[in-house]
Amino acid sequence: RREDVHYFGAGPAPLPTPVLEEAAKVLLNYNDTGIGITEISHRSPEANAILAHAQDALRQLLDIPAGDGPEGFQILFLQGGGSGEFSAVVYNLVSVWLAKRTKGLDETKAAEEVAKLRLDYLVTGSWSLKASQEAARLIGKEHVNIVTDSREHRNGKFGVIPSADTYKPSAIAADVALTYYCDNETVDGVEFQSAPEGENLVADMSSNFLSRKVDVRKHIAIFGGAQKNIGTTGITIAIISNKILPPHAAMADSVSMRRLGLSVGPVILDYPTVAKNNSLYNTLPIFDVWIAGRVMQRLLDASEGQTPRIATQQAESDKKARDLYAVLDGSDVYTVVPDKSVRSRMNLCFRIKGGDADAEKAFLKGAESRGLFGLKGHRSVGGIRASNYNAVSLAAVEKLIQYLKDFADGKA
Ligand code: PMP
Repeated sequence: RREDVHYFGAGPAPLPTPVLEEAAKVLLNYNDTGIGITEISHRSPEANAILAHAQDALRQLLDIPAGDGPEGFQILFLQGGGSGEFSAVVYNLVSVWLAKRTKGLDETKAAEEVAKLRLDYLVTGSWSLKASQEAARLIGKEHVNIVTDSREHRNGKFGVIPSADTYKPSAIAADVALTYYCDNETVDGVEFQSAPEGENLVADMSSNFLSRKVDVRKHIAIFGGAQKNIGTTGITIAIISNKILPPHAAMADSVSMRRLGLSVGPVILDYPTVAKNNSLYNTLPIFDVWIAGRVMQRLLDASEGQTPRIATQQAESDKKARDLYAVLDGSDVYTVVPDKSVRSRMNLCFRIKGGDADAEKAFLKGAESRGLFGLKGHRSVGGIRASNYNAVSLAAVEKLIQYLKDFADGKA
């Protein structure tokens, strides 16, 4: 039974049971229309209301500036997951950079400019590494500058965020089409304490979206797949600054991109197209947007009077993580993998007896016998990973804490 199980998987992840119960009903009959929510048109009034609600809820939760001016941000719903955005940010921001830098130049001069194009990546874990590799694949590695590779600061393994004075950003800020970081590294359990500095800042918030306040204004693009803190797999949310959208920015056309040896991206990843069509350029999975909207509404309902509204969830997330780390730190049996200064509040990665495979197997087996599932570390790093997403209740965390204590005391 669902109520006998607590799931700590890294994503997809638990969703609030009341939302799923309501979802079961709307799948059959949405709002007394007699038609299921996955059957209605994405252009129907019902779908439009669902979309508008989800956008409004996110805007309130994270205090996202509105309006059409350069200080405003658009909220887009896309498909293709976090991985799709690894490509999308490159296509879009290179295009914006190119239009700006090569406007009115002849071909030779334009080519000279293109040689200067730089994309700055902070590599602090497997996901930012993947994103930087995608940039190199799309535009050539000569354009990708690794601002930091945290493995160089820790015996070849991820687990720290080096101090900013060791960073090597590209020398000329105007050459930088984007500075990329992953706010929370899901596999390695590393989370930024605050947004880094960088020209045209882009953040992957797939695994800590809606778990704390975000300095939205510091970024030009923030994205994340919905399937951890927000909803079901199938939609990706992007918060895009108007500064990189028309009329505030132009995009390079496909002819000039090709002439310069760069290709334009697929239209479904094109931010101006998606923004202009209010995320309805192609068929949007409205059911996924509805789920995200219900999840966000619950956060709003719980946070009356807070500014920003996400502060309530932040306090809960922080407390759950603090309590778990306190138990892990308090026992010799466990070793937390990442450095203390950058431990993720969302994905707690630890080893048992220095990585003893039998002990870790026994730990996972014992956990399952108590209804605690999804604790196995990512296949690339092994160990144990407890994901502490928003729908993981305080009660679930308490159960895990009791198990951690009992296992350490040999009582499990
Ligand atoms: N970024 C981060 C931080 C992730 O955790 C993940 C997936 N776990 C991704 C990107 C990739 O997302 P997707 O599987 O939706 O493409």
